[in-house]
Amino acid sequence: MKPLLFAANWKMHQAPAAAREFLGIFLNAHAPVAERQVWFFPPAVSLVAVVDGTRGRRDLLVGVQNVYWEPRGAFTGEISAGMARDAGARAVLVGHSERRHVFGETDEQTAKKVKAALDGELTPILCVGEQLAEREARKTVAVVERQLAPFAGWPAEQLARLVIAYEPVWAIGKGRNATPQDAAEVHAAIRSWFESRGVAPHELRVLYGGSVNRGNVAALVAEPEINGVLVGGASLDPAGWAAIVRTGV
Ligand code: PEP
Repeated sequence: MKPLLFAANWKMHQAPAAAREFLGIFLNAHAPVAERQVWFFPPAVSLVAVVDGTRGRRDLLVGVQNVYWEPRGAFTGEISAGMARDAGARAVLVGHSERRHVFGETDEQTAKKVKAALDGELTPILCVGEQLAEREARKTVAVVERQLAPFAGWPAEQLARLVIAYEPVWAIGKGRNATPQDAAEVHAAIRSWFESRGVAPHELRVLYGGSVNRGNVAALVAEPEINGVLVGGASLDPAGWAAIVRTGV
């Protein structure tokens, strides 16, 4: 079976008690599947609960939704990659559209966070994607390339450690997803950007995100270009999430 990564972005949902309750149901419903990984991104306060609740399951991994780029210091309210790793995180979301558009994070700040993640031994899932007006103006690939531009001079070994999530902003939380073909086209453009910087196409994992649900996930992951999905709303219900991650099994 094709290797697939299913990532759950819980956003600002699932406090520790709710996270434990979620895992109680989910773990009963989902035994490991070969070549399939499930990554959870709970809010930071629930990180330890999810790390503890998933211990011993090598197909499950836990990450954080954000880190700051400095390793320590007077940055009230922030956590560093090293601190997240120490608490059990192994991955981090960077450049999510809510970070970019609600909190005003720039492409350069996003790149600093990716660097901090790699230095702190967290796998960054770097999110990229265009807004509706940009898609309508046929600027999707140009926008994604602008978001990737700060990484242009990076060594191939570092670039190959990134996971990319293509998440069109107009599709996130909107109940409207990109078609598998549209997503695959953008994924191919992302792969070729990395390939021209020394990352072989098979080395790079590119996920799709944006209103993925039980009804559309099978067609999305059937696309050879799509290595998995990053899911918000539909990852909050444990039975529904178990059905998504068992797609095609
Ligand atoms: C997300 O938060 O990354 C996301 C894709 O959300 P949703 O699945 O709800 O569109």
